[in-house]
Amino acid sequence: MRNTLATQLLFDLSHKGRRATLFPKSDVPAQSLDKLLPKAQRADAPPPLPEVTESDVIRHYVNLSTLNMSVDTHFYPLGSCTMTYNPKRHERLSRLPGLVDLHPLQVDEDAQGMLEILYEMQQMLGEIAGLPAVSLQPAAGAQGELAALLVAAAYFKSRGEKRTRVLFPASAHGTNPASAAIAGFECVQLQPSANGLVDLKELKSLLNEETAVFMVTNPNTLGLFEKDIAQVSKMLHDVGGLVYIDGANMNAILGITRPGDFGGDMMHYNVHKTFTGPHGAGGPGSGPIAVRDFLGEFLPGPVITKETADGSGKGTPFYRLTNPPKSIGRMRSFFGNVGILLRGYFYLRTLGPAGVKAVSEHAVLNANYLKEALKDVLPVPHGTRCMHEFVATAKPLKGEKGISAMDIAKRLLDFGFHAPTVYFPLVVPEAMMMEPTETESKETMDAFVETIKRIVQEDADFLHHAPHSTPVCRPDEVKAARKPISRWTEGPVG
Ligand SMILES: *Cc1c(COP(=O)(O)O)cnc(C)c1O
Repeated sequence: MRNTLATQLLFDLSHKGRRATLFPKSDVPAQSLDKLLPKAQRADAPPPLPEVTESDVIRHYVNLSTLNMSVDTHFYPLGSCTMTYNPKRHERLSRLPGLVDLHPLQVDEDAQGMLEILYEMQQMLGEIAGLPAVSLQPAAGAQGELAALLVAAAYFKSRGEKRTRVLFPASAHGTNPASAAIAGFECVQLQPSANGLVDLKELKSLLNEETAVFMVTNPNTLGLFEKDIAQVSKMLHDVGGLVYIDGANMNAILGITRPGDFGGDMMHYNVHKTFTGPHGAGGPGSGPIAVRDFLGEFLPGPVITKETADGSGKGTPFYRLTNPPKSIGRMRSFFGNVGILLRGYFYLRTLGPAGVKAVSEHAVLNANYLKEALKDVLPVPHGTRCMHEFVATAKPLKGEKGISAMDIAKRLLDFGFHAPTVYFPLVVPEAMMMEPTETESKETMDAFVETIKRIVQEDADFLHHAPHSTPVCRPDEVKAARKPISRWTEGPVG
């Protein structure tokens, strides 16, 4: 049965004269009112707000809030997005008054605790990356990509080199070419390869003295580890180029291998993905970048440095915000999205090195379990073992029964599961990209598998109109994004 709760606006509930508050009759005489506030400054009529009771308002918003899907309420296997459970302990710690009450313009002397935390965060991220110089500035992964490419551009300029081209595989996330284009580079995309990995021959044919950066996600967006990555890095370095690792999939390799060790020169983290910051719906992110020593002087500032009074490294340390000498400048105001950095910091400190490694081991185990359980209905075209996620295809189902990836994704909502990522990466037709994350139990994944097996037995026509239980069924996604109706107007909306 379709849920109609959310199709009504508060304005639709309005009845003239209804109020949530009851004020006593004004006992201010009319003359003194004119003195207190001249008539010219008073409105003729109250603003056209909905006239509703307190219970109307409360029910409206509480009911709306229950229509949301989140990791706290539903299994959320949205590939690439890493919708890991957000431990409540870290939520609580990052809200400690000493942290949330700090003002960003407070002097360094008064913010030593916060600066120490952020300094340690830089150190930990540098260690996990195997790339020692870190800036916490960028506000999300995409901005980290842009920042790192601007660092690369500044580096090449400082050497008097003119390198104009940024390369990336066909499976790259859309933000990779977008960042490269905004940073002023020419984008060169590799062809999709048969095994889903970078084709060394093709890469070699594209490398020359104009090559600036090769951007590669590892594990890649098909959930496969680029096993030739060391060789790829060497090929780039041999022509004087740099290797950028898109670190969105770091949750597959934490404590197991490091971008710096397999040849990467720069990378970004998505702290909100890998280290459990609550995200989704464009919420706050954090995209620190880690780079090799020789690129550190170009990093976006401020970065946090640690000093001791006598410079010996012993004694009480002092933490300071500084700008790297040849910094590309700021990517945004202040230091970064500190709220998300704090959650990541507490997550790392709670788990410790062994726990961090276990995160990746479980993420990979869960993804392989799910892949094996589903492969008979949703085959996986690339690879036999996956990392933390896999990309299945609904192409055979579409051919046999007319059931598309979109149909399955939409129907899953009726059963209380968030849909996987669909139609990305583009190299797999009818793609369904699934990432269970390390925090899901076998029982949850089994229930998900059973549901998919049930859905694919359903009538195709019935599925084309799924979901059947939500207030809105299949919105025009392009129109919804391009022409959102965000303001109430009286009368029917066009
Ligand atoms: C999420 C993601 C990005 C972009 O990161 P944001 O934090 O959303 O800006 C880039 N690359 C890959 C592979 C991703 O999954």
